[in-house]
Amino acid sequence: MKSVIRTIIPVLPVTAALVFASCSRKPASTYNYSRQSAENKSLVTYESEYIKGYEGKHVIIDYYFIPVIKRINRYAKKFNVELQVTSSFRTPEQQDGLSGTVVKPACMSNHLAGHAIDINIVYEGQWYNSTLMRKNNLRNLPYNVRAFINSLRRDKGIRWGGDFSIEDPVHYDDHLNKNKNQWLKRYYVCQNKYKDYIRKR
Ligand SMILES: [Zn+2]
Repeated sequence: MKSVIRTIIPVLPVTAALVFASCSRKPASTYNYSRQSAENKSLVTYESEYIKGYEGKHVIIDYYFIPVIKRINRYAKKFNVELQVTSSFRTPEQQDGLSGTVVKPACMSNHLAGHAIDINIVYEGQWYNSTLMRKNNLRNLPYNVRAFINSLRRDKGIRWGGDFSIEDPVHYDDHLNKNKNQWLKRYYVCQNKYKDYIRKR
């Protein structure tokens, strides 16, 4: 099966205040998001033989994250692992409402801009979750699971949460938030699209 990418059509401006209501690191930037909200390249759903949404949920990402998820898909195919995506794009409300997660949600999370996914790996019927995928447990994993994770770590455009100072082994992103303006731009475009998508459903 080839990758299936569907556009999430839609849109209305969201207020900037919404995001940072519970965040102490308010952005100093005054990015013009009303202009950008007209951009039509934004959220898409992604699915492939190797990447699926957990419990039938959609994998929702930013248009500009497609090349990254396609590379992740190629590594998954190479090592014959299936990825169950437990979280992809999130709204600020979903981000704040996270409970039972390993890591305290970040203010400028790449999930808020559609540039991050959280995954469990399935290989030969066995599930590998955040506990099993901890960095200091990698050596105990089957070759294919370990090689898959290490391939992503070697990919210069991808970060693995297992390498963060506070480990988050289910998390992968493209470090969009290393550039605050780039992050804000995709944040506003994607959050606007999602609001309208929900409103029209
Ligand atoms: Zn994550």
